[in-house]
Amino acid sequence: MVSINNDALTEKILAGERITAEEALLLYEWPLEELGALADQRRRQAKRSSYNGDGNEIVTYIVDRNINYTNVCNVYCKFCAFYRTEKDDDHYVISLEQLDQKLDELSAVGGVQILMQGGHHPKLGFEWYINLLRHIREKYPHINIHGFRDLVHQSSSISRKFLECRCVK
Ligand code: SF4
Repeated sequence: MVSINNDALTEKILAGERITAEEALLLYEWPLEELGALADQRRRQAKRSSYNGDGNEIVTYIVDRNINYTNVCNVYCKFCAFYRTEKDDDHYVISLEQLDQKLDELSAVGGVQILMQGGHHPKLGFEWYINLLRHIREKYPHINIHGFRDLVHQSSSISRKFLECRCVK
């Protein structure tokens, strides 16, 4: 079992308090195993205490949709049948109109979350992602955004920028 820092930030998290953007950045520096153990402990607490203390007996689900924002990728994994280059006729970058259509369809069936996944498009800069997130936040505030995992894993500078950018919170 991984031991967790017994500091003020840990206590704050385990007390269920909201942390600040600056504190989130501190967590970014933690060893991954410790951060994972803390997240798991907090998750168990939250689950146990939900539904008037019956959380451990109840299984829930949400309606979630995967959205691929681009299939252009410059990583070229050998196993991948998804990626295209900009020379391929069927390459794409999602437009806001296409995104809205998907989010409207999701909302119509009670969906509350999206998983954003896509290739590592060499021409999409940080601002493109921020504009996309800002658009979703403003027009679909009921949709939780889960995504960019591959992108964040690929670049620690991008993941730090996401953390530091207040406009998508
Ligand atoms: S990073 Fe993802 S999209 Fe790109 S080639 Fe690899 S598996 Fe395919």
